[in-house]
Amino acid sequence: MTERLYLQDPYLRSFRARVLEVRELDGRPAAILDRTAFYPEGGGQPGDRGTLGGTGVLDTQERDGAILHLLEKPVQPGEIDAQIDWRRRFDHMQQHHGQHLLSAAFDKLGAPTVSFHLGERTCTIDLDAPLGKLDLPQAEALANDSIWRDLPVVARDFSGEERARLPLRKEPVKGDRVVLVEGVDASPCGGTHPARTGEVGCVAVLKAQKWGEGKSRVEFACGARAVRLLHEATDVLAGAADALKTAPADVAQAASRVAAEAQARRKAADAPGGGEAGQGSRVRARGGAGNLRQRRHGAPRRCRGRAGAPGLRPPEGGCRSADGHAPQGGPGNPGWKRGWRTRLRAGQRRAGEGRRRPCPRCTQARTSLNFLRESDHASIHSSGPGGPSTLCQGA
Ligand SMILES: [Zn+2]
Repeated sequence: MTERLYLQDPYLRSFRARVLEVRELDGRPAAILDRTAFYPEGGGQPGDRGTLGGTGVLDTQERDGAILHLLEKPVQPGEIDAQIDWRRRFDHMQQHHGQHLLSAAFDKLGAPTVSFHLGERTCTIDLDAPLGKLDLPQAEALANDSIWRDLPVVARDFSGEERARLPLRKEPVKGDRVVLVEGVDASPCGGTHPARTGEVGCVAVLKAQKWGEGKSRVEFACGARAVRLLHEATDVLAGAADALKTAPADVAQAASRVAAEAQARRKAADAPGGGEAGQGSRVRARGGAGNLRQRRHGAPRRCRGRAGAPGLRPPEGGCRSADGHAPQGGPGNPGWKRGWRTRLRAGQRRAGEGRRRPCPRCTQARTSLNFLRESDHASIHSSGPGGPSTLCQGA
């Protein structure tokens, strides 16, 4: 039986041990040691990684009471130096203890935890309470209050008598170990926990959703993960603000405006009789086909195929070019065919009904941009200081 060093000292990062046996698990060599600080996956917490004698430990699992260190390659039996991936382990300690405190908070608010998952990016707890009954801000505030009071965490075996006196949040599944934060939480658990609640740093509730009948799932992150996620969110917001040419605080408003404009344009395009019929429209439809060819083949001036123009069919075997330039698409390419047909229909509609409609931005009739996407249009507008581009001043 392997001595579990992580139970006595969850801060132990390196140790010496004897390799007793090397087995195989899931097609990988797996070492059994006489003692280990590697935590095997269990209770929602993933198994540790690190090195054994310089060989990578990819995962740690428990099978029938044996702790198996899954290795990159086999190691020889005998004494060996072992090292835990401490950054990863401490992250797990922050998330796992943060979960205890958050679950205790939800428990106090009438939402007991039924399961916990510590993911690569975020964590989740499943609660036996409907979504509408959850007070997320209050639970988050209670958990953070427990963290910032920096209370001592006791994690040890408790005798049956001691356990009987503790207000355990759930029934023990195996073993006598209880993780106790006096006055906050007492929960049977075999995981690794910090010595004080303050080491969790913080807990941020990110999302909650309905999860089965009368249950809900809450997503959260603690400590360094919360900081990382904040950076990610800030970068995404800055990117969106940049694209919309607005300040980060105004992104929601600007995005709503752009969406409303796009919808107005769609409606205007779909409305029957929404433009003038005539030769000009047909000419412009051909111009659009030129844009199409440019995108498909990159050589519009040499290309005689007029895909997208009304009444024309896609050229067999691709574009019929005068000088035999190689088309990149063709009827054998389903994506090309689909794209061609979609644009042909659009071209026919435009040619049949004519198309001269106002640009929602500049109020001029927009006729020369039939085949430009909205993003192209937006960039044309933004390229000219203080006014609409000449491209958008109608024919
Ligand atoms: Zn636990």
